[in-house]
Amino acid sequence: MENKNERLKAGEHHVWRGVSQRLSEELSSSDFNTWIRPLQMRCEGDDVVVLAPNRWVKEEVERSYWSRILELFASNDLNGHARHMELAVGSQDLALGGPLRAGPRTRFEDDRKDDAEAIASMGQGLNRDFVFETFVEGKSNELAKAGAFRVASACAVPESAARHNPLLMYGGVGLGKTHLMHAVGNEILSRVPNMKVLYMSSQSFGNDIVRGIRTHTIQDITQRYRGVDVLMIDDVQFFADKARFQEELFHVFNTLLDRGKQVVLTSDRYPTAIKGLESRLKSRFIGGLAVEVDLPELETRVAILQNKGEAEGVEIPVDVAFHIAERIRSNVRELEGALQRVIASARFAGAAVTLDLVQRALRDLFAIQNRHITVDHIQQVVAKYYKIRHSDMLSKSRTRAVARPRQLAMCLAKECTNHSLPEIGERFGGRDHTTVMHACKKIAALRENNNDMAEDYRNLFRLVNQD
Ligand code: ADP
Ligand code: MG
Repeated sequence: MENKNERLKAGEHHVWRGVSQRLSEELSSSDFNTWIRPLQMRCEGDDVVVLAPNRWVKEEVERSYWSRILELFASNDLNGHARHMELAVGSQDLALGGPLRAGPRTRFEDDRKDDAEAIASMGQGLNRDFVFETFVEGKSNELAKAGAFRVASACAVPESAARHNPLLMYGGVGLGKTHLMHAVGNEILSRVPNMKVLYMSSQSFGNDIVRGIRTHTIQDITQRYRGVDVLMIDDVQFFADKARFQEELFHVFNTLLDRGKQVVLTSDRYPTAIKGLESRLKSRFIGGLAVEVDLPELETRVAILQNKGEAEGVEIPVDVAFHIAERIRSNVRELEGALQRVIASARFAGAAVTLDLVQRALRDLFAIQNRHITVDHIQQVVAKYYKIRHSDMLSKSRTRAVARPRQLAMCLAKECTNHSLPEIGERFGGRDHTTVMHACKKIAALRENNNDMAEDYRNLFRLVNQD
């Protein structure tokens, strides 16, 4: 009885999670985080109200995602009959406090709120799970995290002199750039709640410019950006070859820098490598603090899995975490996707997370991961890197110039494929499995004590795992 409502609510929650999970697969993570993640769902009998934190989110969701949400909702909803669905501005989050969340009951915001007021609420577009505390640190991202934290701390102190402006975080997809960016925003707002923090994807910046041009309101729109304290623009590589966007961005950028306001950017590569980006923007982008985010090493991936499991209330034994982390090496997003599947099938089966369960749940994923990495591919990559011949990999030669790269390649083959040691030995000119084992030990020791070797290994690992 007391639980009937709760059970119902849990069911609704489940439907919403299904919808949102699906959208997260269909959208880029920045669009998902900006537009879908902040949404909440509320049920009133058979009516479903989807709540957006502010007018911008609502408008964009209406324009770009609403029809898909309706579709997904209908297909996930097992209620058996159609419901009335509505999109509104409001919040029902009681736990978080803050200016727009003060009321104990759901509040519907006034849609006609003026711009200045609305900017103050923009921090709410931030994903509250993406904070520094939930970001697992390792060699691959410690500089980026430290830089982001430093910038957030400096921003929270008015008139602070030590500004790094802009902060640019760059690196491949799914490595935590957006997470860190939200963490900066969340950190600032937690210290100075009335700071005007605006997070947006480059696409939505572009959309706004297009709308501004069409409706002759470009001044108003860019004016809005100029009025913020912290402007965060995600995935600026999107601006490549879009001259008008670049032009507007450049001016917004200059105004903010002149006013001592913070700009935070992310990019999937170092800006000088973005083709079709004006050089004045490139030099602006790298004129502050630029930090790289790289693929977390194995141990960090394990820690990420265990943390995420804990956050979901599911224990991930360490051998299981290693098993997954050893096989999913492309990026953290894929790692999380794999973990979600594992958790879902554990819940479905009502069983604990074990190696066995993981192998069943992720069989196809592991197969895909390994398909493109063959021993032959590894040999090619390593041979090219050291400018030796592919045949040297298979030869009997023991000269250092050849033997060391060969050992590295064996080690990578063990790390990046699922072949057994005898199989790997076989592919290196019919060597014994003890030779492979010895090579792996040797390389591990060298990586510990020799920086060049450590660096070579990192580079090769990345090259091997690139598509
Ligand atoms: P990017 O913006 O670089 O493409 P995201 O920030 O969207 O990547 O990260 C993808 C997912 O991986 C997010 O859910 C994020 O929380 C998670 N993630 C990435 N790196 C870490 C980390 N070091 N610790 C915890 N979670 C991480
Ligand atoms: Mg991102």
